[in-house]
Amino acid sequence: MPYRLNKGVYSVRCRAPHCPFNAQVKIDQAIMGMTQSDVEVEALKIARDMAMVQHDSIRSRSHSLHKPEIRRVSGSYQLMGAGSHAPRPAGETVIREFARGERILTEGEEASCICEVLRGSAYPERNRTHRYRKGDCFGAAALLPGHRRMTSVIAGSVGTRIAFLNLPELNRSNPRRAGSVFVRVMEDTLQVIRDLEKRAG
Ligand SMILES: [Zn+2]
Repeated sequence: MPYRLNKGVYSVRCRAPHCPFNAQVKIDQAIMGMTQSDVEVEALKIARDMAMVQHDSIRSRSHSLHKPEIRRVSGSYQLMGAGSHAPRPAGETVIREFARGERILTEGEEASCICEVLRGSAYPERNRTHRYRKGDCFGAAALLPGHRRMTSVIAGSVGTRIAFLNLPELNRSNPRRAGSVFVRVMEDTLQVIRDLEKRAG
């Protein structure tokens, strides 16, 4: 299950003797990783590189940034999908069955769950030829706080069974499964982009 850096500010101090360099750098770019420590390692690297540019532009003649001490002074490593105020299932999973033609997700609704097809099929209302089948996941908008469903999704067969997954919760109880769901929902997102490109081209 992926984490991302949220408003990271780092202080970077040069350890060269008598060097007064001690700067704060703010990382605006989106850094993501599969674990909190992946994100941290990447963020520290970027903070060091940013500070090195500042340091060396002032002090290039004497020395380069030396064994910097780097600390996070603000910001956090946030689980993606966390932070939304939309209602979530109390546990990690709610399973529901749908009749053919019934609406599973509604366009414009606040997104809080990832959906996994357990039985039957489903399709996006905006792309009716696309089919989600058993094992497919959709609903990527739930990965980002405050995002709304981009399309309604309709059950494509009788007795379509859908798991509504609370990914942060699932990640606590079963990180491997959460990781696998995440990969499948990203695959769906890439497919949506390819379909859009095809239609545009
Ligand atoms: Zn220095």
